[in-house]
Amino acid sequence: MKKKRVVAKDIYTLADLKDWHDVDPPIRLSVFGDPVEHSLSPQMQNAALKHCKIDMQYARFHVLPNELREAINLIRKLEFVGVNLTIPHKISALELVDAADDNVKRVGAVNVIKVERGKLHGFNTDGRGFARAIREVFSVDLRDLRVMILGAGGAARAIALQCAKENSERLVIVNRSFEKAQKLADQLRDFFAGPKVLGPVPRLQAVPLEEAAIRFQIANVDLIVNATPVGLNRADASPIPSRLLAPHVMVYDTIYSAERTPFVAAAIEAGARAANGLSMLIHQGALAFEIWFQREAPIEVMRKALR
Ligand code: NAP
Repeated sequence: MKKKRVVAKDIYTLADLKDWHDVDPPIRLSVFGDPVEHSLSPQMQNAALKHCKIDMQYARFHVLPNELREAINLIRKLEFVGVNLTIPHKISALELVDAADDNVKRVGAVNVIKVERGKLHGFNTDGRGFARAIREVFSVDLRDLRVMILGAGGAARAIALQCAKENSERLVIVNRSFEKAQKLADQLRDFFAGPKVLGPVPRLQAVPLEEAAIRFQIANVDLIVNATPVGLNRADASPIPSRLLAPHVMVYDTIYSAERTPFVAAAIEAGARAANGLSMLIHQGALAFEIWFQREAPIEVMRKALR
């Protein structure tokens, strides 16, 4: 009798993992998120797998917060190579992995898991992906920049740590909940103890999300990064209005839901250079591919797949 062919789904769930019927090529990589339908990772990673003639595929899984532990335990048994974690799982995954690299411990968030001989290794590629994106879109290194980050969540923490490690000239953390910005600045204080002559402004500063404070800081920064979800919806206002921005700043929005996010549009209106988060998505994805397969990622193939 002819064997029934199992058709791949667009989105899988925990129920599918519990009663697993594999497809061809087999699913060995995935992204867990809630929501997850917006994720562009399958498009990008499947193009890379095909190009490298790796006989497996990458799928989306809608995993609820209370399902994460069970889902992660199941992929261990199903011989997955790895998983990406997106909103809201990056922080809770930290206690579910068997080992975590130094980056993960400092950032407190995992976005890549590699399964090796049944053990789960946690990594965070957001910071390095961000640094590569900035180099690519603005042709500058973080060490030469005075950086302002909006946000103090998972992405902001990874970006702030990367700026600290690369010895950025200055770092300003702006957050709606000011105490979280302060806490993050305190954790990075040691990195900014070295002397750099900057005039009257401190090298490391936490600032409340208030117009007067932002206006003052913008005169003393080169790069402004949005690491909040403000702008994900087309109707959102820019996290910083155009009238506060100036032509000397570079603006990087980690959001990539549109070519011109509200922040990118505000920056262009102010005469500043700006880019959305697609380049960071590509670079953090390429780094994940390299962790999973220990080989260089076909970055141009991944980029083309997202166009
Ligand atoms: P998160 O951990 O939930 O942190 C969200 C941050 O945004 C918090 O600091 C929060 O402030 C702030 N925030 C939330 N809503 C706000 C509002 N209405 N006004 C002002 N501040 C607000 O999220 P995350 O994982 O860091 O992700 C943040 C963004 O980065 C997302 O949009 C995600 O798409 C993007 N991202 C992009 C990439 C990429 O590859 N391009 C990678 C990672 C993340 P409070 O502390 O006050 O709550």
